Amino acid sequence: MTNLVENIWRHADQTPEKSALREGTGDQERSWNYDQLRLSISSVMDQFTERGISRGDRVLLVLPTSAEFVLTYHAILGLGATVVTANPLCAPRELEYFIEDAGCSLALGWREGPFATEALDEAAAKTSTPGWNLQPGDLDEITAEAPATLAEVQPDDAAALLYTSGTTGKPKGAVLTHENFRATGRLLSSTMDLLDEEHMGTPLPLFHVFGQASVMSSVYTAGSSFSVIRPFDPQLTLKVAVEHKLTGLAGVPTMWNAMLYTESPYTPEDFSHMRLASSGGAALPLEVARAFQQRFGGEVLEGYGLTETTGAATFNVPGGERREGSVGRALPEVDIAVIGPDGTELPTGEVGEIVIDGPVVMKEYWNRPEATAGSRHGRWFLTGDLGRIDEEGFVFIVDRKKDLIIRGGYNVYPREVEEVLYTHPDVQEAAVAGVPDERLGEEVAAVVALRPGAQEDAAALKAWLGKELSAYKVPRIYRFVEALPKGATGKILKRAINRDDLASHGIR
Ligand code: AMP
Repeated sequence: MTNLVENIWRHADQTPEKSALREGTGDQERSWNYDQLRLSISSVMDQFTERGISRGDRVLLVLPTSAEFVLTYHAILGLGATVVTANPLCAPRELEYFIEDAGCSLALGWREGPFATEALDEAAAKTSTPGWNLQPGDLDEITAEAPATLAEVQPDDAAALLYTSGTTGKPKGAVLTHENFRATGRLLSSTMDLLDEEHMGTPLPLFHVFGQASVMSSVYTAGSSFSVIRPFDPQLTLKVAVEHKLTGLAGVPTMWNAMLYTESPYTPEDFSHMRLASSGGAALPLEVARAFQQRFGGEVLEGYGLTETTGAATFNVPGGERREGSVGRALPEVDIAVIGPDGTELPTGEVGEIVIDGPVVMKEYWNRPEATAGSRHGRWFLTGDLGRIDEEGFVFIVDRKKDLIIRGGYNVYPREVEEVLYTHPDVQEAAVAGVPDERLGEEVAAVVALRPGAQEDAAALKAWLGKELSAYKVPRIYRFVEALPKGATGKILKRAINRDDLASHGIR
């Protein structure tokens, strides 16, 4: 079987002069065409070989979204070794855990900015793992005279080991194979209609599956051009979008929201090249999608997936039929069903656990046979998400199984309540969570960040929600905050919301 990196080698043969990778704007810009990208990756492969890395080894990358990430990532895969990625903001103990759990023989860190070099140094020293710290520009010199020969891989060979908490417990390494990434790249690039003149950009962290699989591998499958944007800053993202004439942006809903509320010198005409914004990772509030489309043009297309499904499972087709609030239909070659608590498939329209089968489903959790077995039901991978599928195959994610609030015996799906909160003109961000309640088991609470200048008014929000929702779904507790806690990809972190604190300090 062929190596995933073969995609880049093929485009370097076919369209060597075509733009492949860009970072920065104005005189700070660095760029690679396909021929240069292939030679740069080949040069980095030589550097890894000199450091003793070969087929079957595992290498930890703790790098921000950067050209260096793209080069080292592909060089490791090109050698037939496995990439293990971690958030540059991780603490030493977390990095130590990844190094030991995955058995890494080299750890790559970053020397610039607020990133984790010191934490990585500490973790590497504790585990006696050699480290290699990079800074921007360190890999710019092309030393290879000819393209490297890529390692042959087996269909089951691990390309990446991505740590995720899954539905429960300690982080586990989801083992994604070359075939998994090839499948995501193939299915998403064809569904998004990516062509070689496409120019996709993202400020997503590349250590996460969304940036790696759904964006990077689909761009390099299609032979499109890729702009890495670092760090996520709404103004910088808009600037790159205009200056690089991006035709597509990939991000999570909080990024679209931040771009809507930042000051910007641009007019909608400046974004006339924008064709699509690919949104995933968390539920996209309808109001955010509408406002984004109105301001920046293009279509906001939502998809759904998990680390364990190589980032992809469903997507909305550009220019295609849409259903409001749906994450689209299953990608070609992917099967999706909904099962009940006893594991039987539920009829169309009923809410249950979403299950997935297809070439995007991971091979296993690294060294965790029990967790792997627990994540399957027959041929299905169990997502831990609750949802339904309509008669035409459109998938609706209702909520995470564990986020479901049971208030006095009634099911409340936080997401449904959040959707209505986002329609209120004063609300910028919102999250709904269950808090312990003696009488009802759980009470519904809303945490809200208001738009600049808006007044805190819990009674008004309650009345607004009461017009749209059954009374048992309307939060009784309200807490106003400056901003909601967010994870590395920008997802709102429900887990970081302190439920006991909310119960005692919210406005009732
Ligand atoms: P991760 O493994 O970090 O990619 O997280 C996967 C989880 O993100 C899924 O199980 C969903 O709960 C959530 N998710 C991803 N995409 C969406 C989406 N479009 N709508 C709602 N939730 C999503």
